[in-house]
Amino acid sequence: MFPTIIKHRKKPHELLAYEALFRRILEHYRQHEAIVSEYKRVKAGYDGERNVDYKLSTYPQKNFFVFQGIRLQNPPFPFQIDTLILTEKMIYILEVKNQKGVFQYDSEQQQLTQIVDGEVKSYKDPILQAEAQKTHLQGWLARHGVFNMPIETLVVIAYPSTVIENITKDPEVYKKIIHNESLHEHLNRLNNRYTENILTSAHLKKLCQALLNEDTPLRTDILQQHNIGWQHMIKGIPCEKCYQYPMERLNKKWQCPKCSAVSSKAHERVILDHLLLHSTTITNRQCREILQVDSPGTAYLLMKSMNLSRSGKNSARVYYSPLVNEFPQSSNIPIKFKNNFAKQSLD
Ligand SMILES: [Zn+2]
Repeated sequence: MFPTIIKHRKKPHELLAYEALFRRILEHYRQHEAIVSEYKRVKAGYDGERNVDYKLSTYPQKNFFVFQGIRLQNPPFPFQIDTLILTEKMIYILEVKNQKGVFQYDSEQQQLTQIVDGEVKSYKDPILQAEAQKTHLQGWLARHGVFNMPIETLVVIAYPSTVIENITKDPEVYKKIIHNESLHEHLNRLNNRYTENILTSAHLKKLCQALLNEDTPLRTDILQQHNIGWQHMIKGIPCEKCYQYPMERLNKKWQCPKCSAVSSKAHERVILDHLLLHSTTITNRQCREILQVDSPGTAYLLMKSMNLSRSGKNSARVYYSPLVNEFPQSSNIPIKFKNNFAKQSLD
């Protein structure tokens, strides 16, 4: 009765990395303005996409196969689609916009602008962005033997409070930039435009599998982006209760030297955060460094218990990061955002 979700949305690497950064960076850098504002931008994007996911999940149409976020390659270009819907007769690309406020769209200049504090801010034309993804997807489909599949694009405004003024009153714009609330009506309108099935259900299934197999989520190096080094980071495991660090390894458990809280698994989050922020691999020596333990045997047992995939032997052994989509989705971050950011420098 409702669409089938082939790929469920997971937090993008960038969002997971910001959450990891707030756990790992020294407390007095946590309110750094550039870090907090980038985090909020990434979080708003994810939340907006989830609004659209919810609306789409209630669309009464069963032959819709939904990919909630997918990143593919049309060599040499990677391209990312916020939501892709595959059906037997057509494909939809949804480009989700999460900005709030009042915007002006000029279809003649192909420009989206916003006036903030008397200054004009200009954004990429979202219709052109969606059309560029369509071109890339056509390239991808051609390499999979699909040449005649109609593709329709919609720019979906995630939040009802956002206003887009169509300043040239171009009737096409009303059909291309839509609010999440009217998503069902626009899907109906487009769905009725096509009658012929292009794919058999077997072919559709194969294409779903190919899309899943070729999804390559982006990794973002936020440490480099913000010029953050080891000197800005916590050493060892912080206590989950009082944030004192490092916790000490005693009797096969972690113990807080300040409040005596005990944890058996506190190392797991710290190792995963390392794999989100620093590198997709970790060695025994790096593990000892980030957990502040001396014993290679202890580090070995701790990493072994996490079932990370690994290669190499003895001191050359490396352990690999889980895939981006396999990281835990919980977001326990030790920060409450203030309205006035401390203007800190990272030097
Ligand atoms: Zn404690």
